[in-house]
Amino acid sequence: MIAGRFAAGPVHLIRLDHGSDLLGEITRYVTEHDIRAASLAFLGAVQRAGLRYYDQNGKRYQDFTIDEHLEVVAGVGNVSLLDGKPFVHIHCALADEDGHAFGGHVNEGNVVFALEVTLWELHGTPMVRRPDDCTGLTLWGGNL
Ligand code: ZN
Repeated sequence: MIAGRFAAGPVHLIRLDHGSDLLGEITRYVTEHDIRAASLAFLGAVQRAGLRYYDQNGKRYQDFTIDEHLEVVAGVGNVSLLDGKPFVHIHCALADEDGHAFGGHVNEGNVVFALEVTLWELHGTPMVRRPDDCTGLTLWGGNL
């Protein structure tokens, strides 16, 4: 197990612009505000979705897009450091007009219709992502 301990910092409430890229805008926000550790949640709607599924046997991501208007039922994520820069890792559940839900790892290509983000900034030594041979992912490898 690898763990870090943090103190609660400011809470940011962020409304993303219509037509912006969900992952790109949150990444831009944390970079501009030099946020290196955070937890976040969001809800709203997207005009199209770009998600990833991690193939645990093949140890590679499979990217897919959904070209329809979707509710963002729930999004959750965190901010840590990768290669010395803030890295936003988010997953979300989406639902179609019939209420059928699906989801995955949020990739680029999620076009915002309306989106509200609550971001809890954390103060402490940021967690750093490092390559993990067991999973093939870049996981928290400890603090700086
Ligand atoms: Zn993920």
